Amino acid sequence: MPTPTETPTLSREEARAALVTIMRRMQSAGLNRGTSGNASIRVPGGMVVTPSGIPPDDLDPETMVFVDAYGTPDTTGLRPSSEFRMHHHIQRGRPDAGAVVHCHSRYATILACCGRPIEPIHYMILVAKSRSVNVAPYATFGTQALAEAVVATMGAGSACLMANHGQVTIGRTWQQALAIAEEVEEQAAIAYGALMLGGGNRLSRDQLADSEEQFRSYGQSPAA
Ligand SMILES: [Zn+2]
Repeated sequence: MPTPTETPTLSREEARAALVTIMRRMQSAGLNRGTSGNASIRVPGGMVVTPSGIPPDDLDPETMVFVDAYGTPDTTGLRPSSEFRMHHHIQRGRPDAGAVVHCHSRYATILACCGRPIEPIHYMILVAKSRSVNVAPYATFGTQALAEAVVATMGAGSACLMANHGQVTIGRTWQQALAIAEEVEEQAAIAYGALMLGGGNRLSRDQLADSEEQFRSYGQSPAA
C-alpha cells in the first residue's frame, strides 16, 4: 500500500539536507554515538532515510536513500538504514508523521532494557502526545516484526521505547520529531532518577488533563 502523503512534505533535496542536520544534532546532543540511530523524512512518492553504517561526520545529502511508497529502497546508491522497514511502516500507518527519528539515547535505552515505560511523573511527558511512553515488545532490529511492534505500541502518540533497544519518535516536521526525541530522553532520565528514589509521584488524571489544556495555549503558534 502506498504511503499516505497528507502531511506537509519537503522535496527530496530538502529532506536529504535535513537528514544530515538531524544526525549531527543527535550526535551533538548526546542522543547518539557512532553509527547507531537513524531518521527519515516523508517526501512526494515515499521517504528519504539515512544510510546504513555511516558516522554522522561522514554523511552528506548524497548519501541519503530514497525509499518508494511500497517500501522498496533505491538500489543505485548506498544501502538504507537497517531500520528502513520501521520508518516505512510508521510513515504508512501515521499520515501525520512527516519525519521519524530513532536513537539509542542512554536513559531511554536503560528503561527499555528493563521493560519500564516512562510514567507520568512530570507534565512534560505530554510532549510525546500521550500520558506515558510505553515499551514495544522485543523484536530483532531491522525486522518487520519490530516495525509492527513499534507502530502498535506508539498508538496515537508520538513516541515509544523499544525493548532492549532504544526509542523512536515522530513529528509533523523533522524539527518536532527531533525535539520530542530530546524530551523523551530528558523524561527517561527523570524517570530513571525517580525510580532510584522509589518511583516518583504519578500525576493524577485530572492533573494531566489540566496540563493538556494548558499546552493547547502554550507557545507562540497553535498546534505546535
Ligand atoms: Zn536502533
